[in-house]
Amino acid sequence: MEKIKWLHQMVEQSPQDPQAHYWLAKEQAESGNLFEAVQSLSTALSCCEDDELRKEIIQELSIVSMNLQNTESTQTAVPTSLQEEAVEADYLVEQKDNLSLLKTKLKVIDGEEKPKTVNKKSHHITFEDVAGLEDLKKTITLRIISPFYNKGLFAKFKKKSGGGVLLYGPPGCGKTFIARATAGECKANFYPVHITDIIDPYIGVSERNLKGIFDKARFQKPSIMFFDEVDTIGFSRSKSSATHRGIIDTFLSEMEGIDTSTDEVLVMAATNTPWDVDNALKRPGRFDRLIFVAPPDEEARKQIFQLKLSDRYAENINVELLAQKTEFFSGADIENVIEIASENVLSEILTTGNERPLNTDDMLEALSNQQPSTLDWLRTAKNYVRYSNQGGLYNDIEKYLQKHSRSI
Ligand code: ADP
Repeated sequence: MEKIKWLHQMVEQSPQDPQAHYWLAKEQAESGNLFEAVQSLSTALSCCEDDELRKEIIQELSIVSMNLQNTESTQTAVPTSLQEEAVEADYLVEQKDNLSLLKTKLKVIDGEEKPKTVNKKSHHITFEDVAGLEDLKKTITLRIISPFYNKGLFAKFKKKSGGGVLLYGPPGCGKTFIARATAGECKANFYPVHITDIIDPYIGVSERNLKGIFDKARFQKPSIMFFDEVDTIGFSRSKSSATHRGIIDTFLSEMEGIDTSTDEVLVMAATNTPWDVDNALKRPGRFDRLIFVAPPDEEARKQIFQLKLSDRYAENINVELLAQKTEFFSGADIENVIEIASENVLSEILTTGNERPLNTDDMLEALSNQQPSTLDWLRTAKNYVRYSNQGGLYNDIEKYLQKHSRSI
């Protein structure tokens, strides 16, 4: 399909996506449709919350508007015949109206910078923000980040660096967090995708949505697509409906079409229920690397406490003690404990009027009512490991369970 038509389609599908309007504008400007480009840029600006993208849009807008003004001055000298003059006059009146409209818009942009919003997308997290998971970081560096950067080397060995990485493990242990950090390490765009972004009741629309998401990631390379709860997309085909099968097939053909070294698109996914993921998704060229993201160990829990308390009003917190007392707590559980302790201290301050920082006792008190959320998952996993560990798929979980067999 012609690029511009495809971009129009993308804008129709996601009218609130500033990036789509921006790409359309660039294409329009390149093909000489300057006024249309300005309109697309204005729309992009009106729905853009990302500071970096806003800067790019404004820069492009000033270039396009300058070109538009130059065209206006050359166009005044064109008319040749009477008829042409009439048409030209109409055109110029229209252009003038458009230009004054544009200038009003430009004044707004120049004078008033939008108030800064906290934008999660513009804050790139990296491996430094992720506590522990050292082996996983090494694996990701070796198998994901290196191929991403050493395209030439992979080409020399005729090695197609496609396929995706599937992270699995109990909820809240950092699967999404480390995927986001991987994008930060690669300086790639991060596209989180959830089944709700894809599913549509009309026949064929879900498949089109899914294809659109892949196209978008390819277009704005380098990018990392992250499919959260991939089991809901690749739900075991034997258990799934005909509609779901269409989505799985599209997903598989899109994935197989990707060559990471040339497309610069990497697919990552996560699931809490790897046993529900269709086996077809786990074959070579698809999610052929399954990585277990275990609950944080004691050292990692200490680091998570340190990281998450670093921007709180807290004093002398014994993170070693807290780490010892939180076996099987996920990163999200630890965040929750800190949240509860902070709320308790705040309500105490509001009652007594005495301001004080958060301390270890507050944390221990908050902890006393909390249970680790990963235990249920680990117990379920134990059954799967025992009865369906074909091909050693869950060996990593097995190793973890053996190490902690007394407590699970
Ligand atoms: P999952 O995708 O495994 O369900 P998330 O990645 O969404 O879990 O983790 C939930 C939150 O817990 C994250 O946003 C992060 O703040 C925190 N967290 C989890 N694991 C870690 C970790 N290893 N280091 C730092 N924070 C973590």
